[in-house]
Amino acid sequence: MSFNVENNGEQQVAMLLKELLGDSRFGSWVAGEMVLGKGDEIHLTNPATGHHFMSYLDAGSSIVQSAADAAVIAQKQWWSKTATGRGQIMWGCGAIIRNAAEKLAQLESVSAGKPIRDCRVEVAKVADMFEYYGGWCDKMTGQVIAVPTSHLNYTRHEPYGVVTQITPWNAPVFTGGWQIAPAICAGNAVLIKPSELTPLSTTVLVKLIEDAGVPKGLVNVINGLGHTTGAAAIDHPATKKVIFVGSPKTGGLIAAASAQRVIPCVLELGGKSANIVFNDGDINRAVVGAQAAVFAAAGQSCVSGSRLLVQRGVYAEVVERLASATNKIPVGLPWLDDTMVGPINNLAQFTHVNNLVNQGVAEGAIVASGGCRADVNGGQEGYFYRPTVLADVHNSMAVAQEEIFGPVVSVIPFDDEDEAVAIANDSRFGLAGAAWTADVGRAHRMAAQVNAGTFWVNSYKAINVMSPFGGFGESGYGRSSGYEGLMEYTQTKSVWVETARDAAIQFGYSIE
Ligand code: NAD
Repeated sequence: MSFNVENNGEQQVAMLLKELLGDSRFGSWVAGEMVLGKGDEIHLTNPATGHHFMSYLDAGSSIVQSAADAAVIAQKQWWSKTATGRGQIMWGCGAIIRNAAEKLAQLESVSAGKPIRDCRVEVAKVADMFEYYGGWCDKMTGQVIAVPTSHLNYTRHEPYGVVTQITPWNAPVFTGGWQIAPAICAGNAVLIKPSELTPLSTTVLVKLIEDAGVPKGLVNVINGLGHTTGAAAIDHPATKKVIFVGSPKTGGLIAAASAQRVIPCVLELGGKSANIVFNDGDINRAVVGAQAAVFAAAGQSCVSGSRLLVQRGVYAEVVERLASATNKIPVGLPWLDDTMVGPINNLAQFTHVNNLVNQGVAEGAIVASGGCRADVNGGQEGYFYRPTVLADVHNSMAVAQEEIFGPVVSVIPFDDEDEAVAIANDSRFGLAGAAWTADVGRAHRMAAQVNAGTFWVNSYKAINVMSPFGGFGESGYGRSSGYEGLMEYTQTKSVWVETARDAAIQFGYSIE
């Protein structure tokens, strides 16, 4: 991709938006149209340069109202189609996303600061999501239940109506597709509010699926701030369920706001996952896996393996080899093909990462690699942080308990299996975990004992839309992906049909 650092991506983004949205102005996307906000001005910064590249206005409650009105109408239209018809349109969404994949990946890379190689993978996964859930549309069968009466009793999976989805900045187009696809598969309409820092790719995604035949108004992107636009969407009476992907702190507020309205919510929150290497593990694979677990997306991934637990017999070797390999990871401008680690998304997050590493060092951690800002392109601008290995970490330190959400791994020694389980579970989170071992029995024991919604053996970060994903503990509740994720978007109705000829008599009342 050609990119002009001088203008901070301004021209590139304007050109991509014009081409993909048919408009270089930016606001919310309601009923298939660009609607400019009326609230506070929101400034977007290029994470690779630290400079402003565009602004837009917060949507606010009046645009949420228009989006909800459009959603209510479009949902009825969508639900009245045949299930096969909905599935065919969703399958077409996959094709149209693949056609626009490179441009969508470029937009994501420039505006969110993610390496282009990661953006290409994530956009392809979004196409997979629409195809996978397109296949479910005409397979959502209910059950016939053998009730002990003369009734035919069966269940139906019905949509909620309109759902509100709120997503974070670390994987905007991925989390957007991840939630939109199952929602519309189940027959719902959507109000989606991406992070105010990364609204562009979700907006383009919705325009693309409309081009594939999804009715205008079925999915509306309300762009703006959380406490104004996000809160207005949750409070709107049309919203019947909330799906939130973000930090535990905001997740608590979302759960409280949903509870006030007595509507359910799904929370996909943060993590502090334990990646556990045993003496008998394949150390070559474990060292590579440990890097992939935490340095992809500059560590800004909810499932990142940010605690590396290593058994004492291989501890020194793993730390040394990991630190040496980490020093060689290409940190660079996100739009370059060979960049593996790009910038941190924003200044507040960069400061958070830096502060926590400093705190770790003050508490006794040893910097085996990194531990400071990365000098990319000879400049001091942009939020680049060197991939960092902190050794001799104790699990009680802040770097082992707090979500750093940056390219930092805390390496913690342990003696035996019981201690590994105890350390892994000494966390308020429970999103993911992994074990590297040659002992098949131990692998299954670890999978059963570590408190986490996802667990890998001799692997890390294998994730697919077909398999359920979600948290234990403060990592959230409810599930996304797979059949379980689809069921989050339905409510089950039990239907009773009397089949007995003398049914009226059974009630014991007179017919006159
Ligand atoms: P965040 O909680 O700050 O913001 C997430 C979203 O919530 C944004 O769209 C924001 O505008 C909105 N928001 C904020 N206040 C709100 C309010 N009062 N009402 C309604 N909406 C509000 O999170 P972030 O910093 O954008 O994202 C990073 C976090 O996301 C990390 O903790 C990460 O682990 C988590 N995450 C989790 C998953 C998962 O699947 N478990 C996936 C990706 C990211």
